[in-house]
Amino acid sequence: MSSFSKESFSLEFFPPRDQAGRERLVSTAKQLQIINPSYVSVTFGAGGSTREGTAETVRLFSRMGYEAAPHLSCIGADRDSICQILDAYRAEGVKRLVALRGDLPSGMGVVSSDLRHASDLVKLVREHSGDWFHIEVAAYPEMHPQAQGFEQDIEHFVQKVRAGADSAITQYFFNPDAYFSFVDSVRAKGVDIPIVPGIMPITNHTQLVRFSQMCGAEIPRWIRLRLAEFGDDRQSIRQFGTEVVTRLCQELIDNGAPGIHFYTLNNAEATLSIWENLSY
Ligand code: FAD
Repeated sequence: MSSFSKESFSLEFFPPRDQAGRERLVSTAKQLQIINPSYVSVTFGAGGSTREGTAETVRLFSRMGYEAAPHLSCIGADRDSICQILDAYRAEGVKRLVALRGDLPSGMGVVSSDLRHASDLVKLVREHSGDWFHIEVAAYPEMHPQAQGFEQDIEHFVQKVRAGADSAITQYFFNPDAYFSFVDSVRAKGVDIPIVPGIMPITNHTQLVRFSQMCGAEIPRWIRLRLAEFGDDRQSIRQFGTEVVTRLCQELIDNGAPGIHFYTLNNAEATLSIWENLSY
């Protein structure tokens, strides 16, 4: 039987850059309250570039009554600064983190710290903060773009779980078989934590292509062709995107996914349209 329930949704946001962005975010967050997400997460800029913005946005969500989980990346950071961030979050009552390696901003080529992989960060969080935090990690059903091969990538995912991760959120994908195959592969290695599909609503063709090239997510040919055909017709793109992503989510739910994590991109409309269509 599916463990999916109305508490199984979570939402991801990025820290706004200015006051107008903050106001838009508050309005988006209010519109999405109806989903009643189990938590919301807030991204962290490469190399710590949004460190304060992430913390501030977490506070903003907490004030609105959401459980908020900051993302934290370790690449290029030293242990002391990570421990300071952990202590600050703990003092503010934050109970959940998304622990990542992150990517170095271009130009920052050398990593001097010994925190090279997300598994190093998960280990540090457990050493420093014990079981205080619920730790989420990233998973890549279509393989991380820098991975040498699927087997190694899966082994590295297993290392993060052994280091103490409690659950995982996937990179977005449009092929449900990639997700189920990934879950089967890690279950075969004894991993039993929830692996929640990360879902990207489709609203903008150019942006989707750009993101997908960066993160290694495959846009199936038929979806690419349909999107290209719509050209600048944003309404048709949204309508088609909602249909495609709703079907994806429904298939995931019907076949045992433990939750859905929406990459909202700080917009309410696309996420809401998909959510309203789902049955569970
Ligand atoms: P890792 O798990 O460390 O894996 C990265 C690569 O290293 C993989 O190829 C893996 O196979 C390899 N690897 C791991 N361990 C070892 C080892 N011991 N030896 C050799 N190779 C190894 N980025 C941001 O900057 N900010 C964010 O807020 C953010 N949020 C994200 C949220 C989610 C749900 C996801 C899926 C991604 C997010 N990202 C974010 C992107 C992420 O930072 C990048 O994908 C990054 O390249 C990898 O981070 P990771 O935590 O998956 O790294």
